[in-house]
Amino acid sequence: MGSRHEKDKAVNVQVLLRCRPFNDDELRNNAPQVVTCNEYQREVAVTQTIAGKQIDRVFTFDKVFGPSAKQKVLYDQAVIPIVNEVLEGFNCTIFAYGQTGTGKTYTMEGECKRAKSGPKGQLPADAGVIPRAVKQIFDTLESQNAEYSVKVTFLELYNEEITDLLAPEELSKISVEDKQKKPLPLMEDGKGGVLVRGLEEEIVTSADEIFSLLERGSAKRRTAETLLNKQSSRSHSLFSITIHIKEATPEGEELIKCGKLNLVDLAGSENISRSGAREGRAREAGEINKSLLTLGRVITALVEHLGHVPYRDSKLTRLLRDSLGGRTKTCIIATVSPSVHCLEETLSTLDYAHRAK
Ligand code: ADP
Ligand code: MG
Repeated sequence: MGSRHEKDKAVNVQVLLRCRPFNDDELRNNAPQVVTCNEYQREVAVTQTIAGKQIDRVFTFDKVFGPSAKQKVLYDQAVIPIVNEVLEGFNCTIFAYGQTGTGKTYTMEGECKRAKSGPKGQLPADAGVIPRAVKQIFDTLESQNAEYSVKVTFLELYNEEITDLLAPEELSKISVEDKQKKPLPLMEDGKGGVLVRGLEEEIVTSADEIFSLLERGSAKRRTAETLLNKQSSRSHSLFSITIHIKEATPEGEELIKCGKLNLVDLAGSENISRSGAREGRAREAGEINKSLLTLGRVITALVEHLGHVPYRDSKLTRLLRDSLGGRTKTCIIATVSPSVHCLEETLSTLDYAHRAK
């Protein structure tokens, strides 16, 4: 295998680690802390006591964000360069990967209810990657003297079935039956890509519009969650922003740049470790976690330059095929809890994320 540097150039997969603060429950129970972040060294240490002996395992990532790292810091350090690539006409994908309750949705969406730009176009401190990316995109486009269009889609993948989080149906009308009856088909588009038939594509003209779409989609996801018994811990959500920019070359020719940013809030990683996937066994890789398992294999194949990349093995990787590998940038944000109660899942998240490097 080539040096780390060569690998980075060829693959463009960046892996970050974020550890959330203790939550109220953990504080009340005086949960011992087993995860220590060293942001400067880009290291995470996990302390385990095995047979009375204290053992530290240390993992290195491209970037490490400890419990006090703010949303803005993570965004500025990790996401701004990726959105710049998208504005240059490339496809990029950011994943949040980790155990349920460790901050995937907080990282991707943040407190999206309050994520409307204020009078001065300011975002609230808790706004996550999606609203910040949208703001960066519109701030950049509005400052340039070019024609552009911005389209978004927002879908959920559960049990290898796609549902539209932007479909304009009344929230009150979503029933379990509806959700199970109306998955959208994924089809080949005849140009080497895929399309989701019937998926709502919203054209947006300002950052504020995306905030209301995000709210609508998240509300729908939450409604479905209560109906389907915590479905969201087992479902993936995919928010995609496609940008077309019309530019004139110095010779006066017209040039269209097209870039796409995919923001993926993955199913809780506990869904794969329980099936034994951590040990690399494909045992009972049911429909629920097929996309999560396949994503791991696709990223391994890309990072290790294996000839065959198994994009076709799951819906998620088929959907993202044009945005993984080649001249694209991929960023995985792995999220963990600092508490001893999550130790086993934390180690499995760190192992999974570390393998992607
Ligand atoms: P997940 O989506 O991985 O299941 P959530 O994003 O819902 O987890 O986070 C669980 C809880 O922890 C939420 O109440 C969230 O606001 C809080 N939380 C997560 N990460 C952080 C963080 N870095 N700083 C502050 N609060 C956080
Ligand atoms: Mg979540």
